[in-house]
Amino acid sequence: MLELKNISKIYRSGSVDVKAVDGVSLKIFSGEFVAIMGASGSGKSTLMHILGLLDRPDTGTYSIAGQDVTRLSDDQLAALRNRIIGFVFQQFHLLARMTALENGELPLIYAGRRGMQEKVRHELTAVGLADRVEHRPNELSGGQQQRVAIARALVNDPFILMADEPTGNLDSKSKDEIMGILRDLNAQGKTIIMVTHESEMASYATRVIHMRDGKIISDENRKVPENFQPTENAQSVIKEILAVAHQTYDPAKFLDSFRQAVYAMVSHKLRSFLSILGILIGVAAVIAMLALGHGAQASIETQLSSLGSNLLTIRPGRERVQGVALESGAGTRLNFQDMEEISELPSVRRVSPSVTGRVQVVYANNNANTQIEGVNVDYAPMRASEPVVGRFFTDEEVRSRAKVAVLGVTVAQALFGENDPIGETIKINLINFTVIGILPPKGASSWRDQDDIILVPVTTAMYRLLGKDYIDSMYVEGDSPEILESLQETITQTLLKRHRLNNQPNPEDAFQIRNMADIKAALETTTKTMSMLLGSIAAISLLVGGIGIMNIMLVSVTERTKEIGLRKAIGATRRDIMMQFLVESVLMSCIG
Ligand code: ADP
Ligand code: MG
Repeated sequence: MLELKNISKIYRSGSVDVKAVDGVSLKIFSGEFVAIMGASGSGKSTLMHILGLLDRPDTGTYSIAGQDVTRLSDDQLAALRNRIIGFVFQQFHLLARMTALENGELPLIYAGRRGMQEKVRHELTAVGLADRVEHRPNELSGGQQQRVAIARALVNDPFILMADEPTGNLDSKSKDEIMGILRDLNAQGKTIIMVTHESEMASYATRVIHMRDGKIISDENRKVPENFQPTENAQSVIKEILAVAHQTYDPAKFLDSFRQAVYAMVSHKLRSFLSILGILIGVAAVIAMLALGHGAQASIETQLSSLGSNLLTIRPGRERVQGVALESGAGTRLNFQDMEEISELPSVRRVSPSVTGRVQVVYANNNANTQIEGVNVDYAPMRASEPVVGRFFTDEEVRSRAKVAVLGVTVAQALFGENDPIGETIKINLINFTVIGILPPKGASSWRDQDDIILVPVTTAMYRLLGKDYIDSMYVEGDSPEILESLQETITQTLLKRHRLNNQPNPEDAFQIRNMADIKAALETTTKTMSMLLGSIAAISLLVGGIGIMNIMLVSVTERTKEIGLRKAIGATRRDIMMQFLVESVLMSCIG
């Protein structure tokens, strides 16, 4: 059945070579019950691992039923382990979270044989566990666990049963039970190879091989086996198994991987929960970052639109007299004639004057110190300042220097709190004004609160409140963003001509014209930079989160090497294991 020729296995530990198995040649016949004995460290387990296709020898040839197995692929070895060899280990190696029935079913799953629970029940009954099929390993005694392991080894009807110290962890009563089972199996024709260091256990065997330092030192055959299984049968089965072992992944196996993955997740609730939490936080961070980016952009866009579009602001320049900077407008001042002339230039859509100053406002017991701005009717559409409550003032009110005021939100709140200010009378610098509207909130820009303002007709501001006969600045709206630059030039020329400044040393310093479109463009670049920044932070946090998840999965793989080892021993291929872990990770990611 098995034939070893000159098999060696050398472990290199540091500079010393340990010859765990040293030139062993051995034939084991079908139907034999072989006990391998020897002191600890004599190479019994190593030999057993080679016999069981769990390990490859360094030298020598090994054939099963005439088939050389030393050069088979990993998948083919896995298939052979699954179908023609059954393993029983000293530590039982049952999967803790599964019932006896589910443990017994594993080799069937890896063999791709589904719906064969009856077979598992049958084997469990044969080892005397008919009433324990739904129990988990921790609800079973050592002897019972080992019997489950034997049933598991037998579900695929292997030709050979291998047991490494199967009774090493058991009490004497259980030992006898287990050995009885093995003896019965041998009587039914199974080839059994057992490693043991107890001679009582060896007495159940028909052949005893003694090992020392990796070599066979004696081989006594007590009884010629009667129950030979025909080797031809094994030969044809092996050929069949090897032929299909290379086939592509069976999609039906995916369901099994899926089930195993769900089992693993459910049975390690805390670990699964933590992984899912990691994914959740990672994804939430990315979404939050992106949302913040979009929010910031939207907010900046709102502020930008509140500035008005295609807007130029014109104010007198700061002149210097003998190197000393003067107050803005000290030299040149803008007036209504300038405004008139500018409004008649081509491509100018609207013009509004602006006169500003600080005033004290009083209503009942409340008072505030705020900025006042005198403007005309065109200001509202230009600066996106149509009142949300009430109305803006009219041309007639501008002409008649009417005492009406439109309040910014901050001022309205300071004076009126929650009350309705429309129609109320407030005192601005001790003069009574009627509140006719509330401006839309514009928010604070970096330098000041844009809502801390009162708008009044420009004439009222000039002649009734501030005592000015000139205007501080002008807003000019062009037809389109493209013409702003040339418009800027035309306006400068017009003003210089009007004020006869052309022959001054630095005529262009006489007026400052600011282009809002430029400011807007600058702000938009800033926003883009910010979104990119947030985006990259999000990307980094995703990467970090991903690495975290990767680590958890890696640790979980390391922690489960034992489980993986067992699954491989009973016939799982590399792909089966990978599939199980992959499905598990993907499933957790999806849940997260
Ligand atoms: P036994 O099962 O008879 O007690 P083993 O087959 O487990 O002995 O080990 C035989 C020898 O090989 C021992 O000296 C052991 O230290 C060594 N050995 C076993 N496995 C390894 C390994 N993976 N790496 C290095 N040395 C090993
Ligand atoms: Mg051992």
